[in-house]
Amino acid sequence: MPKAIIDKNYCKGCELCKNICPQHVIEMSKEINLKGYFTAEVVRPHQCIGCRLCAITCPDVAIKIGVNGAIYNFFRY
Ligand code: SF4
Ligand code: SF4
Repeated sequence: MPKAIIDKNYCKGCELCKNICPQHVIEMSKEINLKGYFTAEVVRPHQCIGCRLCAITCPDVAIKIGVNGAIYNFFRY
């Protein structure tokens, strides 16, 4: 089963991932990260279809996608 993995300390709370996810997997949390932002979090992991839209959209490359044990980390070197 695919899953989105959010590195909360890269997140700046822009909500783009929440808004683009077609499966409503992501919501904003009340947790504040080390940068002082309210972060995105995965709240409905079972609904993820691994489409990668969240990872591709995140301007801060905070989201990785896990599929069958492999982790895909887009754009971060
Ligand atoms: S798109 Fe990236 S920076 Fe914006 S809320 Fe989502 S994880 Fe955070
Ligand atoms: S991979 Fe697709 S379905 Fe899964 S959380 Fe990201 S945008 Fe939503």
